Amino acid sequence: MTSLLHPLSPTSFDARESAASGTDKKDIRQFIFAPENLMQYGIGALQALSSVQSAIASAHKPFSGTSVDSLSQQIAQIDLSTPLSSLNDVMSEVNDIYLKHAVYFHHPHYVAHLNCPVVYPSVIAEQVLSAVNTSVDTWDQSGGATLIEQKLIDWTCDKVGFTASHTSQPDGIFTSGGTQSNLMAMLVARDHAISRVAPNWNAKHDGLPEVTARFKIFTSEKSHFSVQKAAALLGLGYNAVIPVPVDQYYKMDTQALEQLISSTLNEGNIPIAIVATAGTTDFGSIDPLSDMANIASRHEAWFHVDAAYGCGLLLGTHKEACLQGIEHANSVTVDYHKSFMQPVSCSAFLLQDRTHFSHISHHAEYLNPLSDADAGIPNLVDKSLQTTRRFDALKLWMSLRTIGETEIGQGFEAARILARQTFMLLSEDEHFETLHAPELTTLVFRYVPSEYDLTNQQLDEINQSIRDTLTGQGQIMIARTKVNGHYYLKFTLLNPATELEHMRHIIQAIKLAGVQATNNHLPSALSAADQNT
Ligand SMILES: *Cc1c(COP(=O)(O)O)cnc(C)c1O
Repeated sequence: MTSLLHPLSPTSFDARESAASGTDKKDIRQFIFAPENLMQYGIGALQALSSVQSAIASAHKPFSGTSVDSLSQQIAQIDLSTPLSSLNDVMSEVNDIYLKHAVYFHHPHYVAHLNCPVVYPSVIAEQVLSAVNTSVDTWDQSGGATLIEQKLIDWTCDKVGFTASHTSQPDGIFTSGGTQSNLMAMLVARDHAISRVAPNWNAKHDGLPEVTARFKIFTSEKSHFSVQKAAALLGLGYNAVIPVPVDQYYKMDTQALEQLISSTLNEGNIPIAIVATAGTTDFGSIDPLSDMANIASRHEAWFHVDAAYGCGLLLGTHKEACLQGIEHANSVTVDYHKSFMQPVSCSAFLLQDRTHFSHISHHAEYLNPLSDADAGIPNLVDKSLQTTRRFDALKLWMSLRTIGETEIGQGFEAARILARQTFMLLSEDEHFETLHAPELTTLVFRYVPSEYDLTNQQLDEINQSIRDTLTGQGQIMIARTKVNGHYYLKFTLLNPATELEHMRHIIQAIKLAGVQATNNHLPSALSAADQNT
C-alpha cells in the first residue's frame, strides 16, 4: 500500500523528528496538507476509509434510535481544549459520537426526507476537491475548475431547454442549495421589477424605493418555505408572498392565480414574480408550468421555476411530458443533491438571460476587477452571493464522466416507479388513507384503523405515535407532514436500491405500530384491535 504513495523526501522539520522520536509534542507543520506529510495523510485517509466502510457495512438500520439526551451527554463530556493523542483516536471518538448514530440515507428503509443516497464517484470527488481546496470565486484561485463548473452549468441550461439567441444567453452558477437559489431568483426578480417601475432608481446604492412596498410574489400554498424566507430577507416581507390555492392534485390552480393577480392590481399593488414548483416537497406535484409562464409574461412578472426536487426528470425520458414549459422560465433552481444522487452541497441557479446577473455582481479591485471581465477572464464570483466557494461541480462532473447522464436519470425513474407501486399497495389496504397518486417520488398518507370510528384528533395522535415508535427503533425512517391541520405520514423515495419488498415490510411495520398506538389510545378497544393484528 505504501508503494502507492509518493516517495517522501527527508525533511528538516523539528516537529517531524520529535514525532518520529515518540514525543507527543505536536507542531502544526506536521499536519499541513503538503508533500512532506503525504505519508501520514495516506495512513490517516486509509484509517478513516476503513472506519467509514465498517460503519456503512454494519448499518443494519438507518438510525441507531439514540435519544438527544444520551448523545448530548456524550458530546458535552468532550474537552475541546485537550486534543487526543492521534488521528486514530480521533477517528474512534468520531465513530462513537457520529458514525454510530448518523442517519444513513443509503439504507433501503430510509424513506423520510428529500435525501438521496450518493454515488461513490462523487464521494471520491469530494476528497479530491477538498484536498486541493480550490475556491471557484476567481480564475486566479481556480484555473480549470472555473471552466469545469461553467461547462456543467451550460449542460444543465441545455437540459432545461434554455437556448441562446442574439439578444440573450443563458447562464448560471453553483449554489449551496435550493434555498440560496430561490433567494437569488427573488433578488433578481425584485431588482428587475425596480428597474422596470422605477428606472432612475439605483437599488444597489440606495436600497429599496417606496414602490417595493407594493411588490407581490405569487406562489402555490404548497411551495417551499424558502420563497417566504427570501421575501423577508429581501425587505419585502412574508406578506409580499401571496399563497395561491392548489387543485385536487396539489398543483397551482391557475384560475385562482389570475383572480389573485387581478385583485392585487385593483389594490394598486404590483405582481413582480410568479414562482412555480416543479415537484413540491410534500406531494411532488408539478405546477402547470406553461400556463403559468403565459400568465407571468402577460403581467411582465418574473417567472421562476423551483425544480429543486423535480430536476431529476431532466435526465429521463419523461421530461417533455412532465416539465413542459420550464424552458420559458426566467430562472430555475436545480438541486443535484436532491435528485442527482450527489452529496450535499451541490445545486445551481440558472438564468435564461445572463445579463440579469448584473443585479448580483460587485467588482472588487483586489478580487474581480472590471478589467478582468473586459479581458475575458472568467470570475464566477461575478454571479454568486458567496465569495469563497467550494468546487462542488467536480462531484457532478466525476459522476457524469463515470456513470453517465442516462443512468443517473434512471435512478430517479426507478424511485418514481416504486412510488407508484407503493401507492397501489396503500390504496388497496383499507387501513390507509392516501391523498394523491404520486407524480414524482413522495407519498402522503395516514393509518386509519377502519374498524373504529375515530376523530381526526385521535388519528393525529395515532399517526404521530407510529412515527415516534419507528424513529425510536431506528429500523425504519419515515417523514410526517400536516395536511389541513392534520398529521399525515410521508414516504420520500429516492433510493433506486429500495424495492417493493422493502416497502411491503415498511407498511407492515407501520400497521403493527398502528395497532399498538390504537390500543394505547383506546384502552377499552384493546381486544377488538388485537383481533385485527
Ligand atoms: C429542498 C427544497 C428546497 C430547498 O433546497 P435546499 O437545497 O434544502 O436549500 C427548495 N425548494 C424545494 C421544492 C425543495 O424541495
